[in-house]
Amino acid sequence: MLSPSFRSDVKHVLKSMSEDGLWKSEYEIVSPQGSWVDLGGGEKVLNLCANNYLGLSSHPDILKAARQTLDSRGFGLSSVRFICGTQDIHKELERDLSRFLHTEDTILYAAAFDANGGLFECLFGEKDVIISDELNHASLIDGIRLSKAQRLRYRHNDIEDLEAQLKSLSDRRQKVIVSDGVFSMDGTLAQLDAICQIAEKYQALIVIDDCHATGFVGKTGRGTHELKNVIGHVDLITGTLGKALGGASGGFTSGKKILIDLLRQKSRPYLFSNTIAPPVVGGGLAALKLLSSSSKIRDDLMKKTTYFRNKMTEAGFQIPKGEHPIVPIMLYDAKKAKDMAAALLKERIYVVGFHYPVVPQNQARIRTQISALHSIEDLDYAIHTFAKQGKKMGIL
Ligand SMILES: *Cc1c(COP(=O)(O)O)cnc(C)c1O
Repeated sequence: MLSPSFRSDVKHVLKSMSEDGLWKSEYEIVSPQGSWVDLGGGEKVLNLCANNYLGLSSHPDILKAARQTLDSRGFGLSSVRFICGTQDIHKELERDLSRFLHTEDTILYAAAFDANGGLFECLFGEKDVIISDELNHASLIDGIRLSKAQRLRYRHNDIEDLEAQLKSLSDRRQKVIVSDGVFSMDGTLAQLDAICQIAEKYQALIVIDDCHATGFVGKTGRGTHELKNVIGHVDLITGTLGKALGGASGGFTSGKKILIDLLRQKSRPYLFSNTIAPPVVGGGLAALKLLSSSSKIRDDLMKKTTYFRNKMTEAGFQIPKGEHPIVPIMLYDAKKAKDMAAALLKERIYVVGFHYPVVPQNQARIRTQISALHSIEDLDYAIHTFAKQGKKMGIL
């Protein structure tokens, strides 16, 4: 039973979230994920806010593989991995992920949130220190909190600050540097080459979360480690099957075999949570097969991203320099971001405004995300409509 004071506090929190404009509402999509989606109104809207970078969420090869795996291996396994939840295809996906990422071994989780949640507490303890980029993803922050290691933060992407902190930590058994490979609000890349250099100098271990990179960042889509030319120098990479690799669900940690061995024995979200559903594993295998055979889809995505970034900048919008398909349209003011997103939806452009506390104060924006599925006509329509609305609102 809820006590009167608890109930009153909960009501107060909900009310103030609503008053402060922090309430998150959800649109209901009644079609598959795609470049155009149906929000139930009969007319489709252009989706510029999915993590469907490569358009694999409804790719025919992936759907076919998922259906076939549903028939050959069933819907679910009703078990964790170490009791009776490991099929041949789970091992196959772990092997294929290791091959794709150029790592020694891989362990699957139900989600990347679990991969990050189950990593630090399991591997690191009181003798160790973890130094984390201040803008790291919530799942890294929570995962690090669960560990008994000393916890420090360095300024965002600031290698000097990171090094200054590492210098003073010579007494620790293991120093651990933790960073997103790509930071999701800005599409900024970690300076992984510089991080690798100082990690070597101070014998620090590197963990990166490459959720917004696996499948398309780097010349053949292997991730931030490929783009920054440090394949083989990153100790652990966490990632998701829930974004570019088909967008269903599932996560993984990949890297040094000795560490993956320990995770398999001791990581709590792995030991105490259900195995990934077979159709999702089948779809994941098909996604890796598709991306291993050719870089055509990611090349196409990158071309369209450059097109959109350039044209939006030419139209007068402020877009931080970069190359990632996460393209933030900076509006700075929270109300402008919300109003603009609402106005764009009326014009059949589906985007979301982000403001404090999701991004820093006065850094409100509309975050757009390009997909290989978008046609140049789709992008032109978006650019034209953004510009029209921007002029109407006095932004341009
Ligand atoms: C999306 C994301 C996650 C969570 O991935 P799931 O597989 O959906 O749990 C973790 N880290 C980062 C950086 C992400 O962008």
